Amino acid sequence: MSLHPIFNIKNGELYVENVRVMDLVEKYGTPLHVISSNRIKQKYGELYSASTEYWKNTLICYAYKANPTLAILKLLHGLGAGAEVVSAGELYAARLIGVKHDKIVFNGVSKSPSELSDAISVQVGLLNIESLTELKLINDIASKLNIQVNLGVRINFDVPVRTHRYISTGMKFHKFGLGVNEAFEAYKLALKSKRIRVRGIHVHIGSQILTVYPFVKASNNMVSFAEKLYETLKLRLDLIDLGGGLGIQYSLEDKTFSSQEYCKNVFPIITEKIGTIFDDESIIILEPGRYLVGDAGILLTRVNYVKQIGDIKWVLVDAGMNDLIRPALYDALHRIVVVNKFDLPSVERYSVSGPICESADVFVRDYPLPKVDIGDILAILDTGAYGISMSSQYNCRPRAPIVMVEGEDVKLIRRRETYADIFMCDLNYR
Ligand code: PLP
Repeated sequence: MSLHPIFNIKNGELYVENVRVMDLVEKYGTPLHVISSNRIKQKYGELYSASTEYWKNTLICYAYKANPTLAILKLLHGLGAGAEVVSAGELYAARLIGVKHDKIVFNGVSKSPSELSDAISVQVGLLNIESLTELKLINDIASKLNIQVNLGVRINFDVPVRTHRYISTGMKFHKFGLGVNEAFEAYKLALKSKRIRVRGIHVHIGSQILTVYPFVKASNNMVSFAEKLYETLKLRLDLIDLGGGLGIQYSLEDKTFSSQEYCKNVFPIITEKIGTIFDDESIIILEPGRYLVGDAGILLTRVNYVKQIGDIKWVLVDAGMNDLIRPALYDALHRIVVVNKFDLPSVERYSVSGPICESADVFVRDYPLPKVDIGDILAILDTGAYGISMSSQYNCRPRAPIVMVEGEDVKLIRRRETYADIFMCDLNYR
């Protein structure tokens, strides 16, 4: 296997950046999430410089759902990132770490009235609607609070993408966004409101997309739609929100595209129209989540047992689907290495599974590894996105801690939950 971007090898041992992985295991135990801060910085830097090569006013709003650990949010905020949030909880996190209101994009297909009130009170930079009823509700709340809303419309252009069906979001049978006719109606109605500044257009067609073509298609659709808005309503939008969805390489077969390629193919479609149908000072917004943090994280886990049933050799580890649900939920492949034997040849085939009482609790099946023994430490790769954020306490398992590595430095950025934490919100049991 070619060396993963966050690893180094020194004296025949595996390191994350300049920190020996086995030292982390000894100090913090397992299961343990490790995140490389320099990898996040590198990914952000690449996307930022690629995008600003094509348009000076680009705002990268990190999609908090990918991994909302506060130290990660702070790191990205420090680099200049805005926030893409989809709940009042994520909005709370953005405010907590000091993201300025106008760098926050609030999305969501079913925002509650109280979430809308929060978003409007904070005066988020862009509030994207997904239904006509939501528009009315926003108008009512904004009138009551006497606050102007920066409004955008998420449009469903029926763009197919090749990804897992649970993370494809831009086709007409999905719940997301407004169809083209309703979206046009929404802009017309919104323009009549004194409380609404109609500013944005938004698409997000899905996640873990590995080719640029669907983004090109969605951007062309956006431009055609915006042309119609300009011609018929004299509306010039200034917040062009292209969503997230840029994929990463989970398996060696995954062919990804670079941020350069993305920007080269997508940005000119938009920038060509800035100054005509789009405002001269338009901001192009990107909402990447997985792209920024996905391959910066690994999950370390210890082997409890090795056993064989029929033809299947099971490696049973101390992390479970409560720590990383992607394999169970999306059939996602996360590569695995045996940390203390990473340089040995793969001579066996194992199914690697956790302690949860569910047959879905399997990380990989029939997977080539060196001969595995009790006490070995496995690293499950590319767990930085949608790992901890989708984790749970199922089977009363405390969630794993997270350490952030930067060069030689190690910081515990989330402690291991205790058993008391699991029951913290339970009342009246005595
Ligand atoms: N924006 C929106 C509206 C989303 O729903 C999502 C995730 O599904 C994202 C951005 C981030 O997607 P990704 O992590 O694939 O970049």
